[in-house]
Amino acid sequence: MTAVDDAVAAVDAGQDRARAELEALVRIPSISADPDHRDDVHSSAEATADLLRAHGLESVRLANVGSSHPYVIGEWMHADAGAPTVLLYAHHDVQPPGIVDNWESDPFEPAERGGRLYGRGSADDKAGAVAHAHAVAAWLSTRGGLPCNVRVLVEGEEEIGSPTLHAFLEAHANELRSDVLVLADAGNWKVGVPGLTYSLRGLAAADIEVRALDGPVHSGMAGGAVPDPAMALARLLSSLVDERGDLAIDGVWEDVRSPTEQEQAPIPGLDGDPSAFGRSIGLRPGVELVGDPAKTLHERLWFRPSLTVIGIDTHPIKGSSNQIVARASARLSLRLAPGEEPDRVIEQLRAHVEQHVPWGLELRFRALEGAPAWQTDPTGPAFDAARRALRAGFGTDPVLMGVGGSIPFVGPFADAFGGIPALLLGPADPQSRIHGENESLHLGDWRSLIASEVHLLSELAVSVRARA
Ligand SMILES: [Zn+2]
Repeated sequence: MTAVDDAVAAVDAGQDRARAELEALVRIPSISADPDHRDDVHSSAEATADLLRAHGLESVRLANVGSSHPYVIGEWMHADAGAPTVLLYAHHDVQPPGIVDNWESDPFEPAERGGRLYGRGSADDKAGAVAHAHAVAAWLSTRGGLPCNVRVLVEGEEEIGSPTLHAFLEAHANELRSDVLVLADAGNWKVGVPGLTYSLRGLAAADIEVRALDGPVHSGMAGGAVPDPAMALARLLSSLVDERGDLAIDGVWEDVRSPTEQEQAPIPGLDGDPSAFGRSIGLRPGVELVGDPAKTLHERLWFRPSLTVIGIDTHPIKGSSNQIVARASARLSLRLAPGEEPDRVIEQLRAHVEQHVPWGLELRFRALEGAPAWQTDPTGPAFDAARRALRAGFGTDPVLMGVGGSIPFVGPFADAFGGIPALLLGPADPQSRIHGENESLHLGDWRSLIASEVHLLSELAVSVRARA
């Protein structure tokens, strides 16, 4: 057996323990967006730190900048001279559970069904943190050392847009200096087929509120003459897209960078049958896909902007009565194409809603955090090492993929470390429903991911040299 074979055998032997450790983390509702869960985010950081220590990482501690949620950092820096330093990133905070009744089991009580582990954070991204710990442990327990130096960073506020990451990386630059980034917060192409992500959309968001009245009034007294804010909001929202569902905000397409010929090339198994994608994602029978049908499906998903209404407030149906509400509001979330700047898109959105708010209702517009898209050139020794490692771990070649989602931390990383390679992989797959209800992790692929990380550390040790 070679050293890497021994380490992979240790991954298999440690799989029950990894699962138990992941379940313990999932039980902590570390919802970074909810101030009521601030203590839970702290507990989750403590538990993550214990996990890293238990698996042989050194100098493990909680750290923060200002009033940020706690980051967890650790390292193992005893590799041979000249070996590169690899920074392993994950995050321990999670999204809110959404509508708890829609979960088949308690979001914070992990449950296995059909080879998948269900629970909030099971895939995004507590599985990433545990994977890093076990990849390190596999080497330390079999060889007493790692093929390269490793630093681990587990963030506590990724799900609120990593607002302090840039400042954190600057403040801790010496402790985090690395030659390659391995970011385990993305996912696989599909179950059994690994992915290596090279393109992410950006994000912009805003809250809008339209108000007609000092307070609610009886619809029998005023309906027919007084505008309904809920209806005004619906008309305003519908003006944001065209009949195909593409954005209809003035100017919003100007900065969209056209994909290269290579990026446009149809992707087998995806573009040929868009309806299969719809089925795989749970689209109800008869529901059409939206977006320009002249564009391939992957282009619509990865390289073009889109808009989602992620929340609406008017009066809830329960307890409603025959009244015209005083105000109605919506939270808008935009996915940005490569080339678009969040601030500029937000100003275009503001100008559009100011022009389209009907019947003179008062408008309040509040911009939220944004992040530009991110792309990297997926070539070079680090990417080659990652391809070999994923092939070894999964038994099949990875798909170089774009992702329609946004991971705002990737940009700050790229800035802070001056263009070192960023390898974006992770434990999710298209059935994981990350951020949604019934989030889950494919346990078999998770094992393959950890094995891939074991291979990756040895592949990077031979193909990437430490910077002087
Ligand atoms: Zn994540």
